[in-house]
Parts: sequence; structure tokens; C-alpha cells
Amino acid sequence: MSALILIELNGSEVSANSRAALTAALQLSDSVDALVLTNDSANASSAASMSGINTVKTIVDDSLEHANVEVASKLIADVMSDYKFLVSGSSTYSKNILPRVGALLDVQPISDVCEIKSSNTFVRPLYAGNVMATVETSDDTIVMTVRATAFEHAEDGGSAALEALSPAMPESNSTFISLQESQSERPELTTAERIVSGGRGLGSKDNFAMIEQLADKLDAAVGASRAAVDAGFISNDYQVGQTGKVVAPKLYLAVGISGAIQHLAGMKDSQVIVVINNDPDAPMSRMADIVWQVDLFDALNELNAYQV
Ligand SMILES: Cc1cc2nc3c(=O)[nH]c(=O)nc-3n(C[C@H](O)[C@H](O)[C@H](O)COP(=O)(O)OP(=O)(O)OC[C@H]3O[C@@H](n4cnc5c(N)ncnc54)[C@H](O)[C@@H]3O)c2cc1C
Repeated sequence: MSALILIELNGSEVSANSRAALTAALQLSDSVDALVLTNDSANASSAASMSGINTVKTIVDDSLEHANVEVASKLIADVMSDYKFLVSGSSTYSKNILPRVGALLDVQPISDVCEIKSSNTFVRPLYAGNVMATVETSDDTIVMTVRATAFEHAEDGGSAALEALSPAMPESNSTFISLQESQSERPELTTAERIVSGGRGLGSKDNFAMIEQLADKLDAAVGASRAAVDAGFISNDYQVGQTGKVVAPKLYLAVGISGAIQHLAGMKDSQVIVVINNDPDAPMSRMADIVWQVDLFDALNELNAYQV
């Protein structure tokens, strides 16, 4: 009953998602290997240093610098003949690849697992997190993604064996053209300890800069509601919620966000929720640990001017 985790890299480093996947995999099996698809064999070393992995299998090919989903899913499905479980962190990367792996293996992937009850029974959210469903699978091979906010992030401290695999690279009908990534010095949204998030209440892109200013002051990541994204205040990489990122920081500061269920689905597991909103009946105010019921511009001016 061995498990394989699919490693997602940020540059040469293992992502927080994959560290959560390792913790989940270790709850399923004593024997956990990792798979790295990369264009540079040196990228396997950060996976090998995570504690709890037996062997890091690598497939190295120039074309894997930007893993093409058709190629990646076939490579992973072939490796899965040795494993009962495939575990990956919930992310755009895994959402792209694992459904195809499931199709190739003819099994039903289970997404966004938040709790492992047994080797075939898992808890996952439905209806934007308003219902937690316990699901049981009878598939022989179990393909799953896990929420990085629901599992500890495995630490370094291991020295896994490295094994290079050399499969023939599958054919693909699609070709990588280019990647446009937003660059930021701020903490990454899904793993940040503090998030300052702005909503429609900010009123304009220029005003949204006050959110970014406060985030920099607090060494926090910037988040946004979908209304703020749709209004063009900030790009959709920053959207928190059902159709955005799922976060669980120590501090979530929501400014001018009403707290629609689709937004709450992405941040309700935050440890401390602070709300700046002039509407005491906003759902966000009702679920907050601290509500500052003021005009948000007064609050942001005061906070941004505050000298620590
Ligand atoms: C299928 C689907 C998926 C969705 N996915 C997401 C998602 O992933 N993430 C998401 O966020 N939304 C999502 N939405 C949209 C969601 O339903 C809401 O429309 C959206 O979250 C509202 O954003 P908001 O809170 O910024 O805006 P509003 O609801 O308009 O709230 C603005 C808030 O600002 C406050 N405010 C205004 N001016 C001031 C001021 N001067 N001082 C203080 N407070 C002020 C108001 O009191 C209000 O509470 C989704 C919707 C659908 C249908």
C-alpha cells in the first residue's frame, strides 16, 4: 500500500502544497516515494531532503521545464503501476494534471481532501465549504489532492534515495508558448502568515494601493475579493475564495469585503479574522474576531501612518 506524492516545484524548491501532500501521504502509508518532473536533475534535491520520503523518482527532460499536462499525466499514470495512492497538494498545477491521471487509470480522483479518516475514507468540502462530506472510495488506486491548509507542512531532515527514470516522452498535441507570471516581493498568498485583503469597498484601483501599502508594512500578502478583481483593482492571481485561492493565515485582515459565502470558502479557516467595514450586518463582520466599524479610508490612513 505504498504512496507516491507528486512534487510541485517553485523554482528549485518544493512548494508548501507538496509538503502538505507528504504529511497526508504518511497518514496513508509507511512507504512514501516522491515523483519530480523537471528539466534539471538538481531540482530533486529539495524533495530528497524532506523528512519521510523513501525514494525520490525523477524524470528529467527539457520539455518538463513547463510540464505539459498531456505529457505529465501519461508519465505519472505509468509510474502509478507501483503504487496504491497518488497524493498531490491542491493547486492549479494538480487540478490541471490529476483529473487526466484519474482518467488514464480509470479511477475517480478525490479533490481537496481536508481529513483522512482511513485508507479509503476522506473528508472534503462541498458547496463552497458549507458542507463537509465524508466520501468512501472503492477504487483500487486512489488519486487525491489535499488542502495545504488542512495538513502540516512536512519539514526537512530526510535524505531520500534518488532514482532517475527514463521513460520515452509521450507525444503531445500542444506546445508550450510562454508563461506570464506576476512577480512580487511579498509573501506568497497561499502560505503567508498575514494577509491584507481588499474588496469592492475600496472603490478604485488607485485606492486599492492603500491595501498594498498596509500589506508591505505588515510583511503580509495581498488578497482580494472577486468583486475587487472583476472591477480591475488587482489581477485575479490575488482572488481569495471558492474560485480563487484557499488560505488559512494566522491573520486575515478583510477591508471593504462583505463576506459572501464564496469569499468565506477561501478564508474561513484563518486563525484571527479582523474586519474593517462600516456595515455591522455584513456577514464578514459577524464571523470576525475583531470588527473595526469605521469608514475604511479613515482606518487605512490611520494604519498606514502608524509608526511602530
Ligand atoms: C460561482 C461564484 C463564485 C464566486 N467566487 C468568488 C470567490 O472566489 N471569491 C470572492 O470573493 N467572491 C466570489 N464570488 C462573488 C461573491 O458572491 C461576491 O459577489 C463577492 O465576494 C463580493 O465582493 P466584495 O465583498 O468585495 O463586495 P461587496 O459585497 O459589494 O462588499 C463590499 C463591502 O464593503 C463595505 N464598504 C463599502 N464602502 C465602505 C467604506 N467606505 N468603509 C467601510 N466599509 C465599506 C460594504 O459595507 C460591503 O460590506 C463568486 C460568485 C459566484 C456566483
